[in-house]
Amino acid sequence: MCKIGKVYVIGLGPGAEKEMTYQASTALEKSEVIIGYTVYTGLIRERFPDKKYLSTPMRQEVIRCEMAMDEAMKGSTVAMVCSGDAGIYGMAGLLYEMGQGYPEVELEVVPGITAANGGAAVLGAPLMHDFAVISLSDLLTPWEKIEKRIRGAAMADFVICLYNPSSRKRACEYILEYQSPDTVCGYVRNIGREGEDAHILTLSELKDTEVDMFTTVYIGNSQTRNVDGKMVTPRGYRLEE
Ligand code: SAH
Repeated sequence: MCKIGKVYVIGLGPGAEKEMTYQASTALEKSEVIIGYTVYTGLIRERFPDKKYLSTPMRQEVIRCEMAMDEAMKGSTVAMVCSGDAGIYGMAGLLYEMGQGYPEVELEVVPGITAANGGAAVLGAPLMHDFAVISLSDLLTPWEKIEKRIRGAAMADFVICLYNPSSRKRACEYILEYQSPDTVCGYVRNIGREGEDAHILTLSELKDTEVDMFTTVYIGNSQTRNVDGKMVTPRGYRLEE
């Protein structure tokens, strides 16, 4: 079928311009309309001042996707922007599902650096071995399922990376059933943005530390170590003594 318009679903990276991929900035340049949650469009407005910007408040994802499809149906090239990667707790999946109702609109996902690897670089090298990413948001996922996934990952000694971590206290309590209270953990607030702030601490300390929704949390596996202030999960190379 002949396509009328196009929607790029673009991951902007964690925040800073330097963490945006070349592919993402090229797609933004090609777009006439940029749609996204205000915080994210705010991050790029200065760099792309001549675009038409559309926005909706948080939690209006379906309306935002409809907006994107409607603009594309008028013949425009549209950028739907998300923080981090658009396919990781972003808008890519919903756009594909809704796209079934708009066969004339072409969709293309442009990947970005997700919070997990953006923050990992700040902390050191915590994700060197198998890891699980778990969002603690129970808006769209029942808490029982989240609990099961945390327990499964802890039981299997995965490094665990938590998004939307405000319920991290409960998560730490489950993990403490399988892992030592001294397990090396870390968190990074505002990755790649102004006020970036990173900390390394133990699992028992993390349980009693407040973290907000602009933070990504890392829980080491049984091998993770604090190496001169950096969080490092050994890959298993043997170093000469
Ligand atoms: N699509 C995004 C994730 C959206 S879910 C990505 O790929 O990164 C939102 C959660 O991601 C936040 O609650 C936080 O845990 C994490 N996050 C996103 N951007 C962040 C940043 N700049 N600094 C710290 N955490 C971030």
